[in-house]
Amino acid sequence: MEETRAALFQAQKMEAVGQLTGGIAHDFNNLLQAIGGSLEVIERRLMTGQGDIQAYVTAARTSVDRAKTLTQRLLAFSRRQPLQPERTDLETLVDGLRDLIERSVGEAIRVETRLAPELWPIWADANQVEAALLNLAINARDAMPHGGQLTIQGVNIHLDATAAASETGVLPGDYTLLEVADTGTGMPPDVLERAFEPFFTTKPLGQGTGLGLSQIYGFARQSGGYVRIDSEVGHGTSVKLYLPRSHHAENLGSVPVKVPDQPQQPVPGTVLVVEDEPIVRMLLVEALREQGATVLEAEDGNEALTILNSPVGIDLLVTDVGLPGITGQRVAETARSLRPDLKIIFLTGYACNAVLDKELLAPHTRLLSKPIAIDQFLAQVNAMLRSG
Ligand code: ADP
Ligand code: MG
Repeated sequence: MEETRAALFQAQKMEAVGQLTGGIAHDFNNLLQAIGGSLEVIERRLMTGQGDIQAYVTAARTSVDRAKTLTQRLLAFSRRQPLQPERTDLETLVDGLRDLIERSVGEAIRVETRLAPELWPIWADANQVEAALLNLAINARDAMPHGGQLTIQGVNIHLDATAAASETGVLPGDYTLLEVADTGTGMPPDVLERAFEPFFTTKPLGQGTGLGLSQIYGFARQSGGYVRIDSEVGHGTSVKLYLPRSHHAENLGSVPVKVPDQPQQPVPGTVLVVEDEPIVRMLLVEALREQGATVLEAEDGNEALTILNSPVGIDLLVTDVGLPGITGQRVAETARSLRPDLKIIFLTGYACNAVLDKELLAPHTRLLSKPIAIDQFLAQVNAMLRSG
């Protein structure tokens, strides 16, 4: 009996993994086709000197943006997306989104918001909360093709040890509960069971990605909260997002630097770039040099520390987080102890661990997620070097 159950569970797990890898491979193949094809055309036209290339550059960049969205959503599910948690006021956030939500769901759906007075501020990445709300509203719209009601509710909730234990992996404490409820079709049990799986969708090809709820699930868990769905066929669905209460008096740490519109300003100062991936390092270093910066480069933490220990002047450290051997965090820690005023930009493909959260509270520190457009990277570098 026990053995059959284990075997069944294993089979289901393998099926889910198969669906996931198949989904990724399918989407990436299309994107690679578009990028590779565009590059081929560009190369041919550059060789013959004939034909316009701008359209193909644009096509390739569009595909890169789409691939970026895809990897972000997958990282969200695996709880590895780089997050910038901050003290977030849900009333302001929901108010700010109301127009967009109303426009997205259309006129046949009534939108009601009911936020309890004195809702606790939460500690979470505000952009991700907004994305989650919007995603939930769109799911609700899809479940109400003939109209209905969408209700967004917010209440304060204290979970004691028993309540917390009944929900897997959540700690006792204060949470703000954000609920998005609809009066739509509801989900049958087999859909409900799989709704959080990446790439699981019941929508026609081209309409559903199956990455909405998986992203919300991963985000909630990574933020120290959780999410649950209650749904009944014919009666509607309610998605409850529990997000941890913020105990920070105010937002400390790195206030996002204002990025100017004109990124093509010369970069003043000396930048140390630490990146183990040679092509990425080359692209960053070249871009900085083209803008007039003095650039030092290191391919790992050891090399970086040698440079940081030398008397050479450095204004900004740009370091990859996931370096082999000494991590980017360790490089930054040492750098800061040697040079307290050093400005630091972390570059990361995914969030490695919570230590980085603390790192990011240090002054003059910024986290940029790969892939980042070179223009944006330069703009950030400039903003940091030019800020006090
Ligand atoms: P997608 O919307 O791209 O299909 P999601 O991860 O957002 O992907 O949702 C997965 C599936 O869960 C949907 O295809 C749908 O079957 C079901 N679902 C999600 N939200 C609702 C809802 N509010 N009402 C009914 N079914 C829903
Ligand atoms: Mg969706």
